[in-house]
Amino acid sequence: MLRCITCQAVHPLRDVIYRCGSCGDLLDVVFPRPSETAAALAATFRARRMSDNPIDRSGVWRFRELLPFYDQESQIVTYPEGNTPLLDAPKSASYAGLRRLRFKHLGFNPTGSFKDYGMVTGVTQARILGMRAVACASTGNTSASLGAYAARAGLLPIVLVPETGVSFAKLSQSLDYGALTLMVRGDFDVAQALLRKLAPRLGIYILNSVNPFRLEGQKTVMIELLEQLGWEAPDRIVVPGGNLGNSSSFGKALRELHDLGLLTKRPRITIVQARGAAPLSEAYEGGHSETLVRVHARTLATAIKIGAPVSWKKAARAVDWSDGWVMSVSEQEIADAKAVIGLDGIGCEPASATTLAAIRRLASEGTDERIDPDETIVAILTGNVLKDPDYTIRYHQSSLFEEFRSETIVTDHGRGLTSQFANPPVVVDATEEALMAVIQKRLDIIG
Ligand SMILES: *Cc1c(COP(=O)(O)O)cnc(C)c1O
Repeated sequence: MLRCITCQAVHPLRDVIYRCGSCGDLLDVVFPRPSETAAALAATFRARRMSDNPIDRSGVWRFRELLPFYDQESQIVTYPEGNTPLLDAPKSASYAGLRRLRFKHLGFNPTGSFKDYGMVTGVTQARILGMRAVACASTGNTSASLGAYAARAGLLPIVLVPETGVSFAKLSQSLDYGALTLMVRGDFDVAQALLRKLAPRLGIYILNSVNPFRLEGQKTVMIELLEQLGWEAPDRIVVPGGNLGNSSSFGKALRELHDLGLLTKRPRITIVQARGAAPLSEAYEGGHSETLVRVHARTLATAIKIGAPVSWKKAARAVDWSDGWVMSVSEQEIADAKAVIGLDGIGCEPASATTLAAIRRLASEGTDERIDPDETIVAILTGNVLKDPDYTIRYHQSSLFEEFRSETIVTDHGRGLTSQFANPPVVVDATEEALMAVIQKRLDIIG
């Protein structure tokens, strides 16, 4: 069933609703506790990796005892998704002043971002409901994911993106997947509000993260992570926050694993926002985590450029349950952290780099919150490096500006960023001597 997070009213699992019919707040998917023991569940999850059945191999459906909202396995959509790596990142660790840091890289998904973890369950529910078309408002990655999954499931994808500010890489994905792509003359928050009004009139199914079935799939990021860690929970999990669906689903997953006895301790969920799009962080700083003031979002990390995050109450619940932390980082910190992650041979999109920027600050500065160098920390990288090549190239050519691409009026925020880790391409004459000289110079540097 679906249960309201505030008034606890319950609604049938097959109702086409996104919010509580009584009080209008967000809904959780709730289900009876699985009957298997923790050890039996862990053994089943692992054994499925050896199976040839696509549902067993999927990094989401491998954990289907915790996603029991379907009636038969034949209803399940899979691409396959998930099973993303946990990567050691020594250069990033040393940049942050830590002994060890690991990244769980959700960019290793079929459409290049974590959105696939939740789209697979959302599109499965759309199919169960008999929907013809699915829709979302998006800063880019949700539309890429929805486009692909709807196409795989034979549904019409409809995506609303801001007219400016969406990366070409993401836009090109939804075009190729055949999505009806609407470039709305407004920002993400405007597009999201419009879709909410239109969807019931057109009979199309909304797959924004307000849809609780998306958050169900995203829970498996945590289950998979704990399995990778031999069910030894880390001390802290650091995650970027935009619309706050990911952090919300992490909290739900950890609570459910805790109830099942699969969690040894509560990892502290640390949410990081970009300073110009940090309504949750501002609420916590002001000591008012029970109200949220929307902001006019500004950041070059377009995936988290959201001023009125829909899932903020669920995210606050996750932070409070886990004794977590919420903070924001500057454009400069994001840009440098992204380049450092790249030096580990990993790479990510700007929004993901907020994690390393935050860890570095918490490990060094005298904030209220302080990372101990011995803490075990996993940072979540949410999107692939190829998602925003324009940003990366500008950084390395030292021409990245806080211009806030969607603004029509140039503001005083239009200053240049300093590319401390710039690695610009070198244009060179097509001769042996010229190439020799450039390469030798670099070899001399590494010694
Ligand atoms: C969607 C997205 C985010 C933000 O996630 P939320 O669940 O909206 O908080 C962060 N990074 C990337 C790359 C994304 O695509």
